[in-house]
Amino acid sequence: SLCYLNGEFGALRDMKVSVLDRGFLFGDGIYEVMPVYGRRIFRFDDHMARLARNLGKIRIPNPLSSADWLAASRRVIEAAAAEDQLLYLQVTRGVAPREHTMLPDLTPTVFMMTTPTRAATPEQRHQGVACITARDFRWERGDLKTTSLLGNVLARQMSADHGAVETILFRNGMLTEASSSNVWIASEGALLGSPKSEHVLEGIRYEVLRELCEEEGIAYNLRPLSEAEVRAADEVMLSSTSKEILPVTRIDGELVGHGAMRGKPGPVYARLYEAYQRAKRA
Ligand code: PMP
Repeated sequence: SLCYLNGEFGALRDMKVSVLDRGFLFGDGIYEVMPVYGRRIFRFDDHMARLARNLGKIRIPNPLSSADWLAASRRVIEAAAAEDQLLYLQVTRGVAPREHTMLPDLTPTVFMMTTPTRAATPEQRHQGVACITARDFRWERGDLKTTSLLGNVLARQMSADHGAVETILFRNGMLTEASSSNVWIASEGALLGSPKSEHVLEGIRYEVLRELCEEEGIAYNLRPLSEAEVRAADEVMLSSTSKEILPVTRIDGELVGHGAMRGKPGPVYARLYEAYQRAKRA
């Protein structure tokens, strides 16, 4: 399918980047993944704002205006076969002789591609998914949406090796997030998530879920959550661009929840799932 590289559109297999690109040598770049429904980007402005914040934090100038990002996105989206897509973009610091310092006046490398969305299966929605847990051994800047994803890759593979969909991470006994999603619990009907910090990626779904909770009359709270609280929660959920909102019903082989709802997706999940489906098509 059509992708975008430095102002040009072409087939994925034809596009080439220099081996001296700092994205390749250092993972020195920022990325975004945006959900596309019916060829429309959901929460485009929020993703653009996060991109701009992240580029600023690592001192890469934003190479395109919001209008130019949108124009390039539209062309890539229109050329793809699927109506629902995941739009990926990345900006690296550019091509330069290999040296750690940020040489001035580099031209950022800009890349964008799209893939068909892989929505959760009905089975995953109705039965929930399995996760494992691990110590959060990644670096201390989880707030940066950087292409340096080795920590996340190693964490994700631990769950893949166990046939689970995600690895939930704890730092000093407190929940941070999962390898490629944010983690939420429901307790006494309220939705609880980790506070925003340098250890957690501020998923765009923080704000989406806050709004959906408000609509649904579900209390929404961000506060430090202990490992014990997560394991004892009524419900556990994941959120991300690709997962939307997904119920977790097994953690390290133990069933989540209590009583008749043990091991089953719960009512807070069910309401947020329906609200999300409405919002994304609105
Ligand atoms: N945490 C991590 C580590 C992630 O990779 C992602 C997905 N990009 C998220 C959280 C969720 O963020 P979003 O809702 O913006 O997809």
